[in-house]
Amino acid sequence: MAVRKFSRQRQSILEYLMQTTAHPTAETVYLHVREQYPNISLGTVYRNLNLLAEEGKIVRLTYGGSERFDGNLKPHNHFICKTCGNILDLEISSLEHINTLAGVGFGGRVEGHIIYFYGVCEECLKRC
Ligand SMILES: [Zn+2]
Ligand SMILES: [Zn+2]
Repeated sequence: MAVRKFSRQRQSILEYLMQTTAHPTAETVYLHVREQYPNISLGTVYRNLNLLAEEGKIVRLTYGGSERFDGNLKPHNHFICKTCGNILDLEISSLEHINTLAGVGFGGRVEGHIIYFYGVCEECLKRC
């Protein structure tokens, strides 16, 4: 029974992350999932987020000591607003060739990269 309940909660966390582009924190996910499962604890949400990230069903974004979660598994890049702290998806063409660039003159094998773009988002620009 408990197992089934857990997986339903996990499914609901996953569904929430797949329909939002807000890259929520664990706390935001918790507040959302709690509407559906009032007895869920923040610890359970953390555990499920970790599991989903380990299973490769969601992406964990870490920057400046804070963690955000993304249900969009398509390769894409992120922009961090210095003013409001929001993380936005950037629609830019693939940067895969920088792996090749990084490998020039390097004896090892470059398999990937993590890039964050940052600045001020459109909403914050409008506000000033
Ligand atoms: Zn902003
Ligand atoms: Zn994203």
